[in-house]
Amino acid sequence: MPKIYFIDVTNRDGVQTAKLGLSKLEKTLINMYLNDMGVFQSEFGFPTTRHETYYLQANLELAEMGVIKPIRLGGWIRAIVDDVETAFKLVPELRHLNLSISTSDQMIQSKFRGKKTRKDIINGMLAAVDAARAHGAESIGVNAEDASRTDLDFLIEFGLAAKEHGTDRLRYCDTLGYDNPFTIYESIRALVEKVGLPVELHCHGDLGMAEANSMAGAKGAIDGGQDVYINTTVNGIGERAGNADLVATVLAVTKSKNFARKYQLGNPIDLAKAWKTARFASYAFGVPIPINQPGVGANAFAHSSGIHADGILKDPENYELFSFEELGRGEPDFVETGREIIAGQYSGISGFSHVMGKMEVSFGSKDDAREILELVRYANVEAQKPLVQDELAFIAKYPQIARKLLTLKPLE
Ligand SMILES: [Zn+2]
Repeated sequence: MPKIYFIDVTNRDGVQTAKLGLSKLEKTLINMYLNDMGVFQSEFGFPTTRHETYYLQANLELAEMGVIKPIRLGGWIRAIVDDVETAFKLVPELRHLNLSISTSDQMIQSKFRGKKTRKDIINGMLAAVDAARAHGAESIGVNAEDASRTDLDFLIEFGLAAKEHGTDRLRYCDTLGYDNPFTIYESIRALVEKVGLPVELHCHGDLGMAEANSMAGAKGAIDGGQDVYINTTVNGIGERAGNADLVATVLAVTKSKNFARKYQLGNPIDLAKAWKTARFASYAFGVPIPINQPGVGANAFAHSSGIHADGILKDPENYELFSFEELGRGEPDFVETGREIIAGQYSGISGFSHVMGKMEVSFGSKDDAREILELVRYANVEAQKPLVQDELAFIAKYPQIARKLLTLKPLE
């Protein structure tokens, strides 16, 4: 039986969201948390974007060291040979790639403005696939941008051509959130039956259906006989109204009525890491988690009305589908209410040693401590807010990697 996998795109779609962004250290922690959760792949950034180069290289080093493993780190670029060349020039260790090109007539006519035909779209994509393979890419996904508004016959032709050139997966992008569960089921089922490739589902929430569409598309793929890779972001952060939320989608496919009997995960997702991951992303993006967010919202397990409270006290299953413990919730939250010493961009050695000492991190010598403090100062300059304990611990543990992450070198 084909299975469901997750490819999280927080570090690509999430960070390209208007008004939002992450520091390179924050992106790195997201990759680590996704790995801890059991996510199959993190779309970790943009290999042709110069300020990403050191971050991408550093994360591939962490993968090599076994720190970010077994998750795959995949880059996202346009399906253009020049971009493939640039990507492998800047990040030679890149092994997993998604190549993106618009396929709808709307985009072909109104974005490319008559400069490209459908044939050009296919030929350009194939040239990019061939170039990526020649550079040693181990897995290649081809993205059909605006797939939901693309003529299905053309999409099939596009998918078949990609398959012939050895593409591993076809990403169906509901770029504008136009699909509904009924249409995406039909489209995905037809696509996988005709093309015979695993698909990725990339759904947006413009009509409030990103998770429902991901689920219906997954059913279409599996009914059609292929594995499916659902694209998500942490807290659903993404372009405009956002992407399918990682936690909500995992809950939907594993907990909703009868679905998991037939449609199962390829590898288990550890939801016990959900709370920590969602909270970190919220802090890093500076976007509060909505009070009614599935699983991780402040009200997801709150009850006040008489009948509900009474029912929950008798048996939680009366009014809860799953337990808060399963999502890693329930630990008391420590908030400092008195004196606080924080490591910042102008911190000195004594305050810094105090902060690290509280985390039970000690240094071999004063020089070692100074080196870490210097990196912490730079990390604060980039983040413009206090670092969380995991960030401080990361810098102390991997100073050389941190040094690389903090290097943002403009062109000379
Ligand atoms: Zn998107």
